Amino acid sequence: AIDPQFHETREQVDDHEGHSVWGPVDEPDELGIHGTHVAVDFDLCIADGACLEDCPVDVFEWLDTPGHPESEEKADPANEAQCIDCMLCVDVCPVDAIDVDAG
Ligand code: SF4
Repeated sequence: AIDPQFHETREQVDDHEGHSVWGPVDEPDELGIHGTHVAVDFDLCIADGACLEDCPVDVFEWLDTPGHPESEEKADPANEAQCIDCMLCVDVCPVDAIDVDAG
């Protein structure tokens, strides 16, 4: 499962279209965590797609990640600022790759 303390245990290494990327990143095998309020561990994501289907405000968009060992696309929290903290994505993810800080 995603480490909910990632913002303390990892370094912010990049910015991807307005959201943070938390390392380590070593493409294409290691992609880190995308997002902060809505955080997706790309190294766990298997592109199941439940979060894209269930999110009521369309926070997620597919991002192609060719060559990654778990899946060749990822659920990118492209619109994390729209999140309404319903926690559906956290509940439906089969590999617990998503953390939403509803604090
Ligand atoms: Fe979307 Fe709800 Fe997940 Fe926020 S918590 S990203 S609104 S499904």
